[in-house]
Amino acid sequence: MPLPVFLSIYVFIIGLVFGSFLNVLIARLPRGISIAFPPSNCPKCGHRIRFYHNIPLIGFLLLKGRCRDCGEKISLKYPLVELLTGVIFLLVFLKFGMSLYTLKYSVFVFLLLGAGLTDVFTAADAEFECGIIPDTYTLGGAVAGVFFSFITYPGIQTSLLGALAGFLSLWIPAWLYKKLRRQEGMGGGDIKLMMMIGAFLGYVPVYFIVFGSAVIGSLVGIPLVILKKDKNYMIPFGVFIAAAAVLYIFFEPRIMALMLP
Ligand SMILES: [Zn+2]
Repeated sequence: MPLPVFLSIYVFIIGLVFGSFLNVLIARLPRGISIAFPPSNCPKCGHRIRFYHNIPLIGFLLLKGRCRDCGEKISLKYPLVELLTGVIFLLVFLKFGMSLYTLKYSVFVFLLLGAGLTDVFTAADAEFECGIIPDTYTLGGAVAGVFFSFITYPGIQTSLLGALAGFLSLWIPAWLYKKLRRQEGMGGGDIKLMMMIGAFLGYVPVYFIVFGSAVIGSLVGIPLVILKKDKNYMIPFGVFIAAAAVLYIFFEPRIMALMLP
């Protein structure tokens, strides 16, 4: 097998494993449960999941999508999160090759997937009032972004300014909205997420990502509010921010050519 093909398959499998870990983080971080203990169990009957059923994708196929012990259907979101993470890791590797940037952007997309997916799943879950973005991804991620900027583009100064620009880009509108409407419009999680993105990418892309997330948010969010027939439904905006940031990584030159005349 040619080396690039072998490495691509290897990276895809690493992505699946990280996707499997992401499923644990998505389920446990917003509920404040330890991520190490207890080991994975069926949410319905509590039976421990056998290690070979924990293998990404294959475990789900072996079980034919049902718990071995109680027959409860296993949500399709688990293998989909694994597959999505595997595919995005592979795309990062194909774009950046054998470089530090593959490592940096793999960490970055992992954090974006965690933040965005947790936001969507908690928003859809009656257990929570609105979408939640745990600080582990955003504040922890901001530290990781600054760390990477010591050894990669855009450099430490741009990274720190990026974190500040990211924070202010959503904090200012949130503050104005609160003054004018006397109610919360945007969650603190979104603001911290934008700060983390600025720490990774620097301040230049902040402008595109805020704009891009508003466009994606309107295209998806407005029909959603109409369908829900609830004017106070809080759209999980973090997922649109994360999506815009992922698009930016892959299409940066073309996006900048469009945005800057
Ligand atoms: Zn079960």
